[in-house]
Amino acid sequence: MTTHKDKLYTSVKNKIREVSQTLNLSQSVKTILRQPKNEIIVNFPVKMDNGDLKLFKGYRIQHNNVLGPFKGGLRFHPCVNLDEVKALAALMTIKCSLVDLPLGGGKGGIKFDPTKLSQAELERVTRRFVSALGSNISPVHDIPAPDVGTNAQIMVWMMDTYMNLAGPNEKHLARGIVTGKTIECGGTLGREQATGRGVVMCIEEWAKVNNVDISSLTYSVQGFGNVGSWAADALNILGAKLTAVNDHTGTIIDSSGIDVNRLRAYVKENGGVKGFDKLEERSRESFFSHQCDIMVPAALENQITEEEAEVMNMKLIAEGANGPTTPEAEKILLQKGVEFIPDVLANAGGVTVSYFEWVQNRTRDSWTEEEVNTKLRRKLQKAYKEVAELQKEQNVDMRTACYMKSIKNLENVYLQRGIFP
Ligand code: GLU
Repeated sequence: MTTHKDKLYTSVKNKIREVSQTLNLSQSVKTILRQPKNEIIVNFPVKMDNGDLKLFKGYRIQHNNVLGPFKGGLRFHPCVNLDEVKALAALMTIKCSLVDLPLGGGKGGIKFDPTKLSQAELERVTRRFVSALGSNISPVHDIPAPDVGTNAQIMVWMMDTYMNLAGPNEKHLARGIVTGKTIECGGTLGREQATGRGVVMCIEEWAKVNNVDISSLTYSVQGFGNVGSWAADALNILGAKLTAVNDHTGTIIDSSGIDVNRLRAYVKENGGVKGFDKLEERSRESFFSHQCDIMVPAALENQITEEEAEVMNMKLIAEGANGPTTPEAEKILLQKGVEFIPDVLANAGGVTVSYFEWVQNRTRDSWTEEEVNTKLRRKLQKAYKEVAELQKEQNVDMRTACYMKSIKNLENVYLQRGIFP
């Protein structure tokens, strides 16, 4: 798998710089956005099942909190590194501001492969990380959530650890320390599906603007985890046809259509798409060169580089993952006339419903899934419309328009508040 580890940080930094210049952003705001506010790195020991003690490196980057508490996922993956988490935290700041959430941007992670640990080890790593982070996270200061390699169970362990460490007066407010929890433990209906569903709600807006009937379209998905599989589910409901999937285990292609529900069950059981329906194993390249209307990259960053872009040719790329396309690849694809719904908009459904979860935790309320989805659609529709208008007005690409709207919003807040002291 292609990984250009430090590339994401450079591209996010360059994009913020480029847009800041276009906007003629005030020097002070430019300076503030250049670096995260806080970079927390903890090394903590955990006892393995065999009795050995192993040291883990955990990160929490708090990029910006001018709009509200730091917010963003925690990633458990062997490639986690400081620059990657810094980039992902900055993307969260852009994302939350773009969809008008009263939240800032943060991200964290631990560098290890969670699939190599037992459940008991994974639980100890998670709990120990929470205790190592101490007061750096809190329901009103910095609120983690799931990301690559983490899930609702891990969030519940985090919440439980935090609650056990909290005093009696804070205990029940402490439920909002993380989002993406199981429903039973204070999660919200619709959070699990939210990121994938949000991707498709954005695709629906694109289809409206372009007068396209989604049920006549074919699509491919990279990564069939939480985001990819729920995006496929939502597209399936709209009648579009899934014809290719790639993940870390392999590539499957079937132009007559892949059964989304059976594939989800298969991936859950087998850990990947390889071998599904006895489909012939195909190369990674054949996934990218496969002809379809929409691609949803929903795996890791930097998957679409110049090499992939040269062979790709679809109408639309809706980025479920954070940073899946390198700037060089984006340039090639835009020249080919491929349209983008960039990550900060396409996958903002996840953090939006995280916000809804947090609000429900604070108000001790619980909303129906329909309420959640209606509110989510409203948020994404509004953001999409404003970005599309800005894109037209400024004659820029969609990603640039997203950054312009988001950064302008941050600047307005800074200029009104003033900079202390
Ligand atoms: N990890 C997700 C993202 O990248 C969700 C973050 C959240 O819900 O706070 O947007």
